[in-house]
Amino acid sequence: MRTAVTGLREPLERLYREFDYTTRVELDAIRFPLRYPGPRDREIVALLTACLAYGRVDLFGRALERVLAAMGSSPAAFVLAFEPRLEGGRFDGFVYRFNRARDITAFCVAAREVLGRWGTLEKAFLAGDPDPAGPITPALERFARRFLDADLRGVFPRGRPSRGYRHLFPLPSTGGPCKRLNLFLRWMVRREPPDFGLWPDVSPARLLIPVDTHVENMARAVGLTRLKSRTWRMAEEITERLAAIDATDPVKFDFALCHKRMSGECRDRRDLAVCAPCGLRVVCRHWRGRGARRA
Ligand code: SF4
Repeated sequence: MRTAVTGLREPLERLYREFDYTTRVELDAIRFPLRYPGPRDREIVALLTACLAYGRVDLFGRALERVLAAMGSSPAAFVLAFEPRLEGGRFDGFVYRFNRARDITAFCVAAREVLGRWGTLEKAFLAGDPDPAGPITPALERFARRFLDADLRGVFPRGRPSRGYRHLFPLPSTGGPCKRLNLFLRWMVRREPPDFGLWPDVSPARLLIPVDTHVENMARAVGLTRLKSRTWRMAEEITERLAAIDATDPVKFDFALCHKRMSGECRDRRDLAVCAPCGLRVVCRHWRGRGARRA
């Protein structure tokens, strides 16, 4: 695998350098927090967006637009002043797959609690970070728990948050890839566009790649993972191999890898026309072996 990583450096660095970020950002979930110039608004919108970022962007985006419209020009101010009995009704009719209006109400209540205690999401994250030079896992676990363990009795009278609300905050300890929370961290921490670099006290070297189906396909195609299941371990493995290329910023390749597959520029199979201009062809499993010799 070491050989594969060595061979990957140039094609991956080129993909990262030459990718058309401007066009693809408009089709990515990051476009929602990007609308808000204020860091506190951007932070809270980024978290809400990432929490809902399961399924296609155009589908959850429609539902998210409705919530953002209800929050007005400053979502951070809206959340800080949120009173569920008065404002919870603003989300009436919200439906997106596992989630309903009360889950968004609960998000606002929990975010109000977190912001009320720590002031910003960044400070809430840092307060739960046991080792700023260590793995990101315990800090992310504690950050998600702040929302899961918030006092939500006013929203869920039986004291147990809904399945939909719990789905918003996956925990690394359950073994899943936690793509949405790792995506939120990427947006907040990475210093280079399209990411925001709003959390300067967290090193990009600690991030884990947000693994969704597109990143999984691409990672397998170019030999960044051989694991069969999309898990936290797979996120660690892919990130470890990317760190062999850029230890200071391993997750920088995420956006381009994800969008290359999502856009149809890669079909995860050997396709003479589609693959012809692909710089990853030299390391792609679909072009190795007998198939490659026939091409
Ligand atoms: S060579 Fe083809 S299948 Fe392989 S990564 Fe490139 S576009 Fe995808």
